[in-house]
Amino acid sequence: VRSALSTLEVLRPRRLSEALAALGAGERPVPMAGGTDLFVYLNAGTQSGARFLDLSLLAELRGVRAGAREIVLGAGTTFWEIRNHEAIRRRLPSLAQAAAEVGAWQIQHRATIGGNIANASPAGDSLPVLLAHEATVLVASSRGERRVRFDDLYTGYRRLAIEADELILSVSLPVPPSDAVPFFRKVGTRRAQSISKVVFCALASRGRGGKLESMRLAFGSMAPTPLRARAAEAAWLEGGRSGAEAAREALSRDLAPIDDIRSDRAYRQQVAENLLTQFARVLAAR
Ligand SMILES: Cc1cc2nc3c(=O)[nH]c(=O)nc-3n(C[C@H](O)[C@H](O)[C@H](O)COP(=O)(O)OP(=O)(O)OC[C@H]3O[C@@H](n4cnc5c(N)ncnc54)[C@H](O)[C@@H]3O)c2cc1C
Repeated sequence: VRSALSTLEVLRPRRLSEALAALGAGERPVPMAGGTDLFVYLNAGTQSGARFLDLSLLAELRGVRAGAREIVLGAGTTFWEIRNHEAIRRRLPSLAQAAAEVGAWQIQHRATIGGNIANASPAGDSLPVLLAHEATVLVASSRGERRVRFDDLYTGYRRLAIEADELILSVSLPVPPSDAVPFFRKVGTRRAQSISKVVFCALASRGRGGKLESMRLAFGSMAPTPLRARAAEAAWLEGGRSGAEAAREALSRDLAPIDDIRSDRAYRQQVAENLLTQFARVLAAR
């Protein structure tokens, strides 16, 4: 690594209160979970700070609690744990699917959902899933705890509505109704181990008589932040039998994809429309 490790200091608190006190005072350490993003930055010499706060011993950040109405994941839950968790696979299949597509097994064993959220890459694979499921993030500092709606979390490119002295403790997802239709798809340059060109999660549910009641469409890698395609959602709900077509047309009002080294704007827009078509087929078959 280009940053000399010997010059770095790592704090290893065993209690959450100690971790929060360290973040609240003086030279603030950088939180470190699995290190799969941080070590890349250290290697590239782009990570600022020489003090790190290892979160791996904090019991408060571990474990999944699956209740009847919501599933709460500690921020330190790895993608390996998520993809193999029975209740998540059954009740939040899009999250299990996204977890199974993060990097390779080695990365999945270390990478945490809290790190994916805090790293705030627009290409983070779990983020559209958390958006479509209307997740809530619990954060804490020595000043207390508060909840942030996932919808309000990203305020700009890699900018979060979380203060520098706050840690993410957990993320909660309401359990969708049993007849809800989930859909997840990551599109990259190859079938596995690629960074997303477009990542998409949808969740729809019907009311009595089979009428669509709720439609959530969330995209990653299409804008500086992950985002809900709200114009497309409304068009789908109002469009009756031709709702999917109306949603595809409305999509250009929601998305302003970027050109970058991975893809150009026109390709991303076309892929996003194709993903709506795929989801419409899945929905029609249920
Ligand atoms: C080879 C490789 C392949 C990858 N493939 C994918 C992929 O396919 N999809 C994908 O989405 N990502 C991928 N990543 C990126 C990375 O693995 C994920 O973003 C991962 O979820 C980061 O989690 P971590 O625990 O390793 O975070 P860390 O690297 O430890 O931390 C990342 C950031 O989050 C902050 N942080 C961590 N935990 C907390 C917390 N509880 N509270 C506040 N801040 C916190 C850290 O300070 C840091 O800024 C890949 C990385 C590598 C090296």
